[in-house]
Amino acid sequence: MTDWLPVTDKFTGLEIGRLPAAGAEEVDAAVGRAQAAFRSWSTTPAHRRSAILSRAAALIEERRERFTETIAREAGKAWKHAANEVGRSVETFTFASEEAKRLHGETVPMDASVFGDNRIGFYLRAPLGVVSAITPFNFPLNLVAHKVAPALAAGNTVVLKPAEETPLTAVLMADCLRDAGLPEGALELVYGDGPVTGEALVRHPGPAKVSFTGSPPVGTHILQHAGLKRVTLELGNNSGTIVEPDANLAAAVPRCVMSAFANAGQVCISLQRLYVHEAIAVAFLEQFLRETRALKIGNPLDRDCDVGPMVSDEAAERAGQWIAEAVAEGATMLEGGRREGRLVWPTVLTNTRPEMKVMCREAFAPLVSVVIYSDFDDALRMLGDSPYGLQAGIYTQDLRKAFRAVAALDVGGVLVNDTSIFRVDHMPYGGNRMSGIGREGVRFAVEEMTNLKFVCFNLA
Ligand code: NAD
Repeated sequence: MTDWLPVTDKFTGLEIGRLPAAGAEEVDAAVGRAQAAFRSWSTTPAHRRSAILSRAAALIEERRERFTETIAREAGKAWKHAANEVGRSVETFTFASEEAKRLHGETVPMDASVFGDNRIGFYLRAPLGVVSAITPFNFPLNLVAHKVAPALAAGNTVVLKPAEETPLTAVLMADCLRDAGLPEGALELVYGDGPVTGEALVRHPGPAKVSFTGSPPVGTHILQHAGLKRVTLELGNNSGTIVEPDANLAAAVPRCVMSAFANAGQVCISLQRLYVHEAIAVAFLEQFLRETRALKIGNPLDRDCDVGPMVSDEAAERAGQWIAEAVAEGATMLEGGRREGRLVWPTVLTNTRPEMKVMCREAFAPLVSVVIYSDFDDALRMLGDSPYGLQAGIYTQDLRKAFRAVAALDVGGVLVNDTSIFRVDHMPYGGNRMSGIGREGVRFAVEEMTNLKFVCFNLA
């Protein structure tokens, strides 16, 4: 008998779809179909792979409204942010269609070695085989695109397990690829919970790689159980941004508000720790709180909604508990703290300490702690004092300070005159330490989804 995975509208709680849940047997069958499809897909000419990805991008664009609504419903993401995600995924597929034509190696000057006389060497890039893709709920289209599109561009086939909360968007994306001409088996979808479906996929010996985006504990577990496979892990962060006195506040404040609260703070590079210099703290906070109060909280389908519901009751309850705990331990709540079911009002804390959960763990909720500092080096030290290392921001007009931050921070990306949240889809993106292993951003994902194959001719 088929087990079903129900999918709900995160604002109303009503069921909006159901998909068959896959156990180990179904996962095995999906891997088998992807392995069978690899033979012909990996030898499909690059121009044809590129054309299919480009057509898929056009179809996503054409079906923009349907995608936006599905993301808004199943992820609870405010309409304008859902629409933005759709636009970005069109770019991700377009970049992938371009990368499909750039899979090349280079020659190696063999006679640089005293043992290399009379030899010609070069290397090629070859696809790995089947790539397992496991994705989180918070960007149900673009983070799926970041795995599927580069994998296909490079000639791999894919078995995708989308997040159990948000699989419907992935189904729409797979439809676009099929309608664009992707052959059967090149992309297989399996649905279900992590510990059952995800686990079976990770432990399956067939795929050559696991590409995972999600939480650090699950990422660590995957690394321990994937076996001898390539593994890319895109994990969490407690992201921070410094605002120096010479910052352009008119630009910085609205950007910080959006960075803290978009998608109800459920973004891996969401602004959680905000370090503001004391010389501008009063002016900054006054504008920051005013703009936070003006945010519209509610139904993500409303075109002017800013902050929709969190993904689950448990996530909203946990956010409430962390805020209450911080306040009980001495933090001051300047705004927010209200909760109705899965809706959590944007919350601004100050007088927080580094050891509080809202500071040292990934909150993944619409809350931000504002820390007022007097010395730039102190601010840099506090920002860098984290086990995570995904992205960090700094607002300053002083190039020397910007470069000091670039040198000091052990993170995957430093954004100058922006917050930690900035991302476009062709830049290298990924974290250090607890934020993960490897990089995405289409070209960089392609590199991690191919093997170098060296060739040498002995001319003697
Ligand atoms: P999660 O780790 O709970 O789930 C992610 C995926 O892993 C889901 O598909 C889930 O079913 C699957 N999974 C769970 N247990 C598994 C197991 N034992 N074996 C295999 N798969 C398993 O994460 P989430 O709550 O969906 O997403 C939030 C997390 O994702 C946050 O930590 C966030 O920072 C992170 N994230 C990181 C990035 C990035 O690019 N670095 C982007 C978005 C989200």
